Amino acid sequence: MEYRELGSTGLKVSEIGMGCEGFAEDECRNTMRLFDEAEKLGINYFDLYASNPEVRASVGEALKGRREKFIIQSHVCSIWKDGQYKRSRKIDEVKAGWEEMMSLLQTDHIDVGMIHYVDSMKDWQEIAEGPVLDFVKELKEKGAIRHIGLSSHNPEVALEAVKSGVIEVLMFSVNPCYDLQPASEDVEELWAEKNYEGHLVNMDPKRQELYETCQRMGVGITVMKAFGGGDLLDETLSPAGKALTVNQCIHYALTRPAVATVLSGAHSVEQLRTSAAYEEASEEERDYAMAFASFPKISWEGHCMYCSHCAPCPKKIDVASVTKFLNLAKAQGTVPETVREHYEVLPHHGGECIRCGACETRCPFGVPIMENMKQAKEIFGK
Ligand code: SF4
Ligand code: SF4
Repeated sequence: MEYRELGSTGLKVSEIGMGCEGFAEDECRNTMRLFDEAEKLGINYFDLYASNPEVRASVGEALKGRREKFIIQSHVCSIWKDGQYKRSRKIDEVKAGWEEMMSLLQTDHIDVGMIHYVDSMKDWQEIAEGPVLDFVKELKEKGAIRHIGLSSHNPEVALEAVKSGVIEVLMFSVNPCYDLQPASEDVEELWAEKNYEGHLVNMDPKRQELYETCQRMGVGITVMKAFGGGDLLDETLSPAGKALTVNQCIHYALTRPAVATVLSGAHSVEQLRTSAAYEEASEEERDYAMAFASFPKISWEGHCMYCSHCAPCPKKIDVASVTKFLNLAKAQGTVPETVREHYEVLPHHGGECIRCGACETRCPFGVPIMENMKQAKEIFGK
């Protein structure tokens, strides 16, 4: 298992994380099996958005004797009321939900406390100016939450929250079809058939801006819905008109800026193993570029997907990384110090390009790579 820095939190998280979708199955006996398997696979990060007390209690049981082996991302504002899940911003309910969660999990701290499911700007503003954020900050001051997070499907809202400087971790829905769609307060819109009619071109600029801003500000992204709820794996259900593989979906998410872990919403031990098998997959198995290029209704023209399909370069330049840092610098107008530092430690730089053109013949998206290498030299000086 490979581990990545989760933004600036200092936490090192497994590239493959675990979602909580499968915990409720078999009267919650599945939770223990999933945690046993996660430990074997080296998965050290999981999300718990579910508020069902039985599910939370099963997680508390599964963590007994191995709490320190797992980094918990759990949600404030996800509560259980009248026998069902509810998203709440009422501070009394939120506080009571928190107390219940902590007692069921049998732990004294949550590593990443997520402000749950914030998809509208009005909601974010009310959270930011109201008692919910004060409560979350208070929990952090007491050490009950080590880092503040927020979960969202809306890039505009997420961007606003990230720019506030309060959020250290963002749980966001990342997959190649969502990435084509403009911001919406209604998550159902991201999959609506009408939004995939005609020919779609390139990533929504707000999403690109969100990922780049997270990277620049040291906010780590934990990914949900990498497989679009499974639809992207099925040709008849995928809005792209062709199926992708688990490895391709995971690799796509992991090659977005700032992404640290992809949460696998595994319903079974087998599904968790299938996601973790990404770690053993070859470059060819991970490569999503040719699959994307063959989508009948979607194209990414002149837009670097950071897929590395253009490798190898005779000068050993990592074109995807150079282009990622170039785009981060261009988006900012100036070169942020952190971006410069990351660029400088690359073993080879844009300035070493001999303009052989081999990469451009391999890029399925017509990216002007030689021009990008030249620009990287101009901006970073090497
Ligand atoms: S230049 Fe093309 S092939 Fe290379 S990483 Fe970017 S999109 Fe992929
Ligand atoms: S054109 Fe430059 S970046 Fe592309 S393969 Fe040749 S040397 Fe490498």
